[in-house]
Amino acid sequence: MISGDKNYNGVIDDLVNGSWISPSDNKKYGIPIKNIEIRETLDGREYDLIESLHSNQKLLVVSDPFTHKAMGSRIFNNLKTKMNAEEYIWEQPSSSIEGVQFLRTKLKDYDGMIAVGSGTVSDSIKYATFLEKKSYSVFATTPMNAYTTGTASISFDGIKKSLVAHYAQGVFFDLEVLSNCPKRLTAAAFADVICRTTAQVDWLMSHKLLNTDYKTTPYELLALYEMDMINNASDIAAGKIDSLALLTLISAIMGLGTSFTQTTHVGSMGEHGISHYIDMFAGDMHPGTSHGEQVGIATISISKFQNTILKKDQPPIIKPTQIPEQEISQKLGDPMLETIKNIYGT
Ligand SMILES: [Zn+2]
Repeated sequence: MISGDKNYNGVIDDLVNGSWISPSDNKKYGIPIKNIEIRETLDGREYDLIESLHSNQKLLVVSDPFTHKAMGSRIFNNLKTKMNAEEYIWEQPSSSIEGVQFLRTKLKDYDGMIAVGSGTVSDSIKYATFLEKKSYSVFATTPMNAYTTGTASISFDGIKKSLVAHYAQGVFFDLEVLSNCPKRLTAAAFADVICRTTAQVDWLMSHKLLNTDYKTTPYELLALYEMDMINNASDIAAGKIDSLALLTLISAIMGLGTSFTQTTHVGSMGEHGISHYIDMFAGDMHPGTSHGEQVGIATISISKFQNTILKKDQPPIIKPTQIPEQEISQKLGDPMLETIKNIYGT
C-alpha cells in the first residue's frame, strides 16, 4: 500500500526552515536549498513542488531513456497541462564539458530545468544552469549525496573535476522510485556514506596535529540516523521503504555537510583519495566499479591504517609531503605538477 503521506524528512524540515539548533554551539542553522522532500511517493505532487519554486518560469524537464521510464514521463504528464513546461529525453547523457555545453544551448529557450536522474543528468544540469545563471530542481532516481551539494563532477578529456556550481532550488526523493533502482546503486550509496567514520578521523587528526579548522555540525546531524541506517543495512538492500528513507536522509545530509563547513573534509578524505587514484590511474585495468563501491572498500583499508596509527604508544611523526616530481610529470603532465607544487607551497 502506498499512502504517499508519510514524511521521511526528519531533521531536514528544520534545516529548510533555518530553525535547527546545533547542540554544540546553540546556533541556528539553515541550508541553501529551498525545499527537500523525502516521501513514499511524490506522484501527483509534482506541480505543487515545482510551482512554488519556479513560478512563472518556462521549464525543460530533462531525463534520459531510463529515468524517463522510471519517473520522467510521469512528472511531465503531471506538469504539462498546468504549467509552461516541455520535455527532453537526453538519449546519450554525458557529464562531460561537451555534455554541459550541449545543455547550455538547450537552455537558451528556457528559464530553468527540471532534472530527472542520477549523477550524470543531475550534475551536468547543475553545472549548465550555473553557467547560464538559470535555476534548476531535481527529482532523484537513486539515493546519492551529489544532489544536495553545490559542486558538480564534470569530466574534461576523461579527467573528472569537482567544480563549484550552485545548489538546486528543490531536491525531491520519491522512495517508491528509489526502491526500484538497481541494487548495486543502493549498495554503492551506502558504501559512500559509511566513509563518515574514516573521513572524520582523518579530519580530526589534521585538526589536532596541524590545527586546521574542524567542525562537528554535519556529524551531529548524521548521528541522528546513522546507527539506525547501519542496523537496517539488509532491509536497505531489500529495498524496504522505511530503511531506504534512512539511507536517503543520510545521503542528503552528507551532501549538505559542505554547506556548513565550506570544505568537503566532512565526507571525503583518505578513502576518497584511494578511489580517485583508482579512477585516474587504473586505465584498462579499471574493473568498472563505481565511486561508492571503491570508497566503501577503501574505507575499510583506511580504517586499518588509522587503527594502526592510533594504537601506537607513541604519537605519529609527520613530515612535509615529499613530492615525486618526475613520477607526477610522467603520469599527469607538467601542468598538474605545477598545480600540486602550488597547493603544497614548494
Ligand atoms: Zn563520495
